[in-house]
Amino acid sequence: MAETAFAVAPPAAVLRAGRALVRRHRGRLAVVTATFLLAAGCGLVGPWAVGRIVDEVSGDGGVDAVARYGVVMAIALAGQAAFSALAGLIGMRTGERVFADLRESFMTAVTRLPLGAVERAGTGDLVTRTTRDVGMVSDTVRFGLPQLLQLVVTVVATVVAAVLVDARVSLAMLVILLVGPVVVWYLRRSRPVWERVGAAFSDVGEDVSANARSARDIDLLGLDGVRRDAVDSSLRGLYRARRHEVFLRTVLIPSTNLAFSVPLVVTLLWGGWLAERGMATAGAVAAVVLYNGQLARPVEQLIDWVDELQQSWVSYARILGVESDVERGVAASEDAASLQGALELDRVTFAYRPGEDVLHGVSLATTPGERLAVVGPSGSGKSTIARLMSGIDRPRTGAVRIGGVDLAGFGAQEVRRTVCLVTQEHHVFVGTLAENLRLARRGATDGELEGALRAVGVDWQGELDDGLDTSVGAGGLALTPVQAQQVALARVLLLDPDILVLDEATSMFDATSARTSERAVSAALAGRTVVAIAHRLQTAADADRVAVVVDGRVLELGSHDELLDADGEYARLWRAWQG
Ligand code: ADP
Repeated sequence: MAETAFAVAPPAAVLRAGRALVRRHRGRLAVVTATFLLAAGCGLVGPWAVGRIVDEVSGDGGVDAVARYGVVMAIALAGQAAFSALAGLIGMRTGERVFADLRESFMTAVTRLPLGAVERAGTGDLVTRTTRDVGMVSDTVRFGLPQLLQLVVTVVATVVAAVLVDARVSLAMLVILLVGPVVVWYLRRSRPVWERVGAAFSDVGEDVSANARSARDIDLLGLDGVRRDAVDSSLRGLYRARRHEVFLRTVLIPSTNLAFSVPLVVTLLWGGWLAERGMATAGAVAAVVLYNGQLARPVEQLIDWVDELQQSWVSYARILGVESDVERGVAASEDAASLQGALELDRVTFAYRPGEDVLHGVSLATTPGERLAVVGPSGSGKSTIARLMSGIDRPRTGAVRIGGVDLAGFGAQEVRRTVCLVTQEHHVFVGTLAENLRLARRGATDGELEGALRAVGVDWQGELDDGLDTSVGAGGLALTPVQAQQVALARVLLLDPDILVLDEATSMFDATSARTSERAVSAALAGRTVVAIAHRLQTAADADRVAVVVDGRVLELGSHDELLDADGEYARLWRAWQG
């Protein structure tokens, strides 16, 4: 299971968000409700007319009452069909709009999630929320919203009609309330169960996606058994949660079925008793019994929807939970424009796991325009320094500042406008080469794009069939890892950040092209601060200053020549590398 999954929004937040959603679409929802009301009104004419026929025929009205009320019923039926169709159409359109609104705000949130939060929660959880949970809410909003409106309107209108026909006979309908306690019992228990089902789906998703991601390592390290046990255990969790869910339904469904037949019988008996004593007409009893019959289907569907609503509520809470992670990331956001100047780590400590610091009081200050290389053995904390500098992770103690302003007050999004981190993981988006580059600068001209590509040493773009308009990424031309790194570096040039942190950004390049493109990037970003985590010491030799990091501490700091003269760790590394 992910150590810190995304949050699940509390009920109050779900209600607030739901209300805001309804408020934004209230005009349309009102039109849909009114149209359903017209349809339901037409549907109520039938039983009333049957009641009238019974009364007139059993009185002295004669058989022509049948013809008269028959015409009325036919007109009402036609009206019901027409209004239902119209209401269905407007209802579906409204549902789609409401869902589009919801999906857009969720996708905006997903793309703004702090990277650290995604890494902590695991992509499995996020994928489960974007697929299963969004799908769940989608069905409820698109189909459920119009249908729920229709059902509620129909039930209320039917009860009102029955009471208008004969309030006394209608009293028998109260028997349906007996289903209430069962529904309440079910609702109390089902939400936590749905939450567990959702979390269990996330666990399975997380385990399966981790297996797929690391299939090769699992094979190499012989971890098949361990990983199978992990999946088995998360599947068992899911099985238990779903079993509990099925048990709750085995109580709910038979009880609701009973709830429809019982009121019908009770109304007949009660109505018959009243009619015998002359306290109700046979027609009124017939009409109320028919209304009762008409209630069964909508109430049954309503109860079905209540169940579905519970599940959607939970899914919606999980979706909103992701949004709250974004808010937490940017909550303390100050004016990002104030982030300018020198980048500085001040006695920073950091731990991925509580109690296991990987940085022990690192202080490192750059001056604007400086090229600083960070070198050191693998696992010494270089990448962690890069992540702290770019605001992805926060120090446990100490501070990261830009121009003297503590980054703690900013979201990763704001920091990103000033500091750009390029790692060795590059993503090529599905789209054209030009679109991939314009992610960094929307309005860039073709000339600027080509310039950026040239600067990072791209010589293959002329060979592409459609030049900048060639489709790349999944389904298009597959770029080699080197080409992907080059595209990433070209994006950096277009982005033109104040501070650039390169973490093995040229790891795929051969030594010569790495050096050429690093120099090109540096030259293009003249006046900007560049911090390069270097695995090739040549990068360090080109830098203004070098920081040697060993075991989470800055051991040496100075220019290449100074450090060679000092004949310490750096000199040793340099000699080993030269050798
Ligand atoms: P470097 O970049 O110098 O190779 P890192 O900054 O990647 O070093 O790692 C520093 C230490 O932190 C290492 O001991 C590493 O095992 C540990 N570490 C790095 N990333 C994580 C993580 N996501 N979770 C737990 N430990 C980590």
